[in-house]
Amino acid sequence: MAAGCSPPKLEDFILTERLGSGTYATVYKAYRKVNSREVVAIKCVSKKTLNKASVENLLTEIEILKTVRHPHIVQLKDFQWDNGNIYLIMEFCAGGDLSHFIRGRRMLPEHVARRFLQQLASALQYLHQRNISHLDLKPQNILLSSSTVPHLKLADFGFAQYMSPWDEKHVLRGSPLYMAPEMVCRQQYDARVDLWSVGVILYEALFGRPPFASKSFTVLEEKIRSNKAIELPPGARVSGDCRDLLLRLLERDPEQRMTFEEFFTHPFVDLNHMPSAESLEKATALVVEAVKKDQLGDFSSALSLYCKSLEYFVPALHYESDGRRKRAIRSKVAQYVSRAEELKALVAVSNRANFEQAKSARDLLKEMSCDKPRLLAALEIASAAVAKEEEGDDSMETLDLYQQSLGELLLMLAAEPQGRRRVILHTEIKNLMSRAEYLKEQLKMRESQNEAASMDQDPFSDSVKSNCSLQ
Ligand code: ADP
Ligand code: MG
Repeated sequence: MAAGCSPPKLEDFILTERLGSGTYATVYKAYRKVNSREVVAIKCVSKKTLNKASVENLLTEIEILKTVRHPHIVQLKDFQWDNGNIYLIMEFCAGGDLSHFIRGRRMLPEHVARRFLQQLASALQYLHQRNISHLDLKPQNILLSSSTVPHLKLADFGFAQYMSPWDEKHVLRGSPLYMAPEMVCRQQYDARVDLWSVGVILYEALFGRPPFASKSFTVLEEKIRSNKAIELPPGARVSGDCRDLLLRLLERDPEQRMTFEEFFTHPFVDLNHMPSAESLEKATALVVEAVKKDQLGDFSSALSLYCKSLEYFVPALHYESDGRRKRAIRSKVAQYVSRAEELKALVAVSNRANFEQAKSARDLLKEMSCDKPRLLAALEIASAAVAKEEEGDDSMETLDLYQQSLGELLLMLAAEPQGRRRVILHTEIKNLMSRAEYLKEQLKMRESQNEAASMDQDPFSDSVKSNCSLQ
């Protein structure tokens, strides 16, 4: 691969060690000769590996890639070419690649994998908006800016479309472990293969091996061609959101696979809450609102706003690298959390009265539903959820019960004819929805608190932040 590259000579650079070689090229560490002695990575692509389009087309593409600027994308600074090779002069990433990072830790805790995933998603969103696909996403093509403060940097994109995954002899290039089934099976494929690969990368980060890991190529091929749905490893312990995302990315049929828009807004990706320069601003704006509501005596709105602000404070803490400012944020957060706890107690008192009222409405509804066993059953589940909550059980299981009953009740409502029962059912659903919403906020708040606390014990999670600004 890229055999013509050893050791290339470039007028303006001193090439040193070989950093790695991938599917199409060899990459060297280099220094700029004139001023600054800037460190860069130079990638040598042999023109012989290009097959789909002419070299001119590729050079046009590279011009476009030079305009790409994103904190989580390896920057292409310049390029040159000679008879045999094209040389891409890139930002140097000192932290190695993601495959090395995962192997060194065997597998990553969910919150660490999630931070990386958010960084990857933000890079893909940027490229998607510019109609650029990667087509060769895998941990080897995801680099880390440094080993002490590892930000993820997406590399090796924008070229894959010029280099078909199949060479002239119909031999597959690259790793089928990360390729979407439609790509390997040589049918038509498009940008959606990137979503499949993201699923594989997340799977590997969490469980230490990709979903199609196999002892032999024959077995691997069988797994790729099979139409069995992807399953998580037995005993996998991941959150519901994480599991949902994995299974919807790892959907064999690209028509059934989640879309890019669904990916960017999925609760596990949640680009909105990604650590960024704006996190603290958003958190503070919400607190200001919370304080206003609090002063007006609207405790339940105040509580909800405090909870929402925490969802930005935790990423703000991740983002902040200055120790003093970090401590200042922490102490404010502690203050808001304790006010939120007080508000929770106040809200609980007024909830109790509502519970009573809602209960008699629900009993009435049950009486009116004797002829509808399915409706009755859904109402029983709702009662069970409320009972659990009244006992102080504000766990995920209680929320699941709420959601289960709501799913059913909404179906029933759609089929319910006009009349008194419909009116009562409608009110009941609204009630249950706000209960579920409240519970969800409480759960999220606890999650934020836990995450803030775990950042104290786990210096690593703290360092997976993104504090690069757009240049
Ligand atoms: P290929 O197109 O051949 O797959 P890549 O761009 O993926 O080439 O680079 C191959 C390997 O070289 C990567 O897996 C990584 O280890 C190393 N590498 C690539 N770019 C850089 C960089 N900017 N900084 C440091 N190492 C790099
Ligand atoms: Mg590569």
